[in-house]
Amino acid sequence: LREEEAISPEGLSVAQMRELRDRAQNFTFQTEVNRMMKLIINSLYRNKEIFLRELISNGSDALDKIRLLSLTDRDVLESNPDLSIRIKAEPERRLLHIIDSGLGMTRADLVNNLGTIAKSGTADFLSKMQDTEKSSGQDMNDMIGQFGVGFYSAFLVADKVTVVSKHNDDKQHIWESDANSFSVAEDPRGNTLGRGTHITLHLKEEAADYLQADTIRALVKKYSQFINFPIHLWASRV
Ligand code: ADP
Ligand code: MG
Repeated sequence: LREEEAISPEGLSVAQMRELRDRAQNFTFQTEVNRMMKLIINSLYRNKEIFLRELISNGSDALDKIRLLSLTDRDVLESNPDLSIRIKAEPERRLLHIIDSGLGMTRADLVNNLGTIAKSGTADFLSKMQDTEKSSGQDMNDMIGQFGVGFYSAFLVADKVTVVSKHNDDKQHIWESDANSFSVAEDPRGNTLGRGTHITLHLKEEAADYLQADTIRALVKKYSQFINFPIHLWASRV
């Protein structure tokens, strides 16, 4: 039972957990990612809530991508025809789930996109942030508004992040990280998503407020009102 509670993905048997651990390949983050994460943690501790905007915008980007592909090949949607974002809190386990039915990530995508900083925009941001590091909070807020700080902002509120993803071109994989290193393994459950990405945030104790429906609803309204896909909160539509 202990063992079962320790793991994050839903419904894994003890045997599947062992399988997962045996299959997992461990990686270290690219140096720039470590710098980025430190910078985010050190400069955005007063703006922790932006993590939700970043994760929803990533889900929306992934949905845009699959929708674009579907214009030339309708079959790509068959793996999961419902294009939406779902947010679900599990207060008892202090988990917050953000699930999209977008493009998804292959194993290689998980390693590359969530382990390195490939985009020059982020590198720009990194250097600008370092220049601004000791300046006012307002400057910092402007910067955040301009650039978006991306996926790693999840670690503002979570001490562990699990990403389960299914891309049409690969099997379903599980990425997991405590911000120090990350691991990737094929999902022993097989394909449970159809297509898309399921992010589980193991919230820090002090971030438990993000498990409240009212808090999440307010944040979605504040930051993500112009998202072009339905955002479902629990069973209700935001
Ligand atoms: P950005 O969104 O500016 O590219 P992020 O740090 O937010 O930077 O995300 C890094 C990359 O990880 C994205 O470009 C995308 O390729 C991938 N990614 C993140 N979240 C998702 C998701 N929900 N679905 C598919 N890919 C994702
Ligand atoms: Mg992003």
